[in-house]
Amino acid sequence: MVVELISVGTELLLGNIVNTNAQFLAEKCALLGLSMYNQTVVGDNRQRLKEAVDTAAGRSDLVILTGGLGPTEDDLTKETCAEALGCRLVEDNHTRERIQEFFKNSIYKEIPENNWKQAIVPEGALVLDNDNGTAPGLIMEKDGKRLILLPGPPGEMIPLFNGQVEPYLRKLRPEFLVSRMVKVCGMGESQVEDKLLDLIDSQTNPTIATYAKTGEVHVRVTAAAPDDEAAERLLKPVVKEIKKRLGRAVYSIREEETLEMAVVRLLKKHELTVATAESCTGGLIAGRIVNVAGASDVFKEGFVTYSNKAKRKHLDVSKGTLKKYGAVSRETAREMAIGGAFATDSDVCVSVTGIAGPDGGTEEKPVGLVYMACCFKDNVTVEKYQFKGNRSKVREYAVVRALDLVRRTILENCE
Ligand code: ATP
Repeated sequence: MVVELISVGTELLLGNIVNTNAQFLAEKCALLGLSMYNQTVVGDNRQRLKEAVDTAAGRSDLVILTGGLGPTEDDLTKETCAEALGCRLVEDNHTRERIQEFFKNSIYKEIPENNWKQAIVPEGALVLDNDNGTAPGLIMEKDGKRLILLPGPPGEMIPLFNGQVEPYLRKLRPEFLVSRMVKVCGMGESQVEDKLLDLIDSQTNPTIATYAKTGEVHVRVTAAAPDDEAAERLLKPVVKEIKKRLGRAVYSIREEETLEMAVVRLLKKHELTVATAESCTGGLIAGRIVNVAGASDVFKEGFVTYSNKAKRKHLDVSKGTLKKYGAVSRETAREMAIGGAFATDSDVCVSVTGIAGPDGGTEEKPVGLVYMACCFKDNVTVEKYQFKGNRSKVREYAVVRALDLVRRTILENCE
């Protein structure tokens, strides 16, 4: 089944907003096993929108439109789609009641007159209740053509899609796609591909695809099956084999789990506490950990020790070490981690010191040179990296590698 998207809104054409709806919908459609060959962005212009709808409905089985369902004059999607399919517009009592109800709970004393326009729907359309706004979603079917109309605001569009459109699409397509994401840290994409090459080449169901992310590689395993159970039967042995081949570099097989979530999960599992001692990453590692709900169970304290003085004052890095080896050195990273663990009485402390650039590099210590250390109950591991890229890339890579160092340290010591 071929689907295509039309994103409606002049704001999109002017670059005032990013088309996150298209990204969300394209990804969802791919997971549902729908083929997508075209996406269109069109402004709030009746004639051009009509042309876009006619073209899309002429070549695809299903067209999903977002935006232009609001109450104002320039919101034309519903009217144009009705015209394209030759449907009359009629008032929907149920939606009228819902609009009334919506405004009862809002700050408005009176319902703006033009909001009633949102209760007018194409005759015969399936009306999708919008719990987060007044414009309902609509599914129109006529003469083998299908149009799905969704409001523009992502906070309205996404729940409508997940709650009502996805079940509708699943019914249309008896075999759908289910996928698992194997998340890897500490290996490059080509290294991962090398280890999986025979699997990637020979598998047709499930299929395997690798994606490079900053400091990480994600491997998507996708099975086509009539139901979740059958998909699971296809996915399980392949995911198991991938995990076996990639070993401890796999930090998660949960789509929604980030590296920092995996780190917090491991810390909780082993009842460990963590502290951070950061120089060039300036608190980014602590920020990533604190982003995880429930981090307060494991995260004790984070130091941002940018200057030598701060490293000495908060982490007790010795004057002699700083003088002899410099702030960006194996020895300083080591003392930072030990000092951070001691100062906070944490089980684990990770430290990072490096040259993020663009200035400050020398032949001996070039931009991108980063030392990191992890102190785990008096044992210290120190690692040296030479990252490539601009200042923010170097810092991003350092954060990912440091979080992974914590993860690997726990695995080595506790599992
Ligand atoms: P409303 O009822 O709020 O008027 P609508 O269906 O008419 O909704 P638009 O007026 O086209 O939608 O867009 C409303 C807002 O929704 C935009 O200002 C923007 O913030 C967001 N939006 C619209 N389209 C997109 C998109 N494709 N991607 C991300 N955000 C979008």
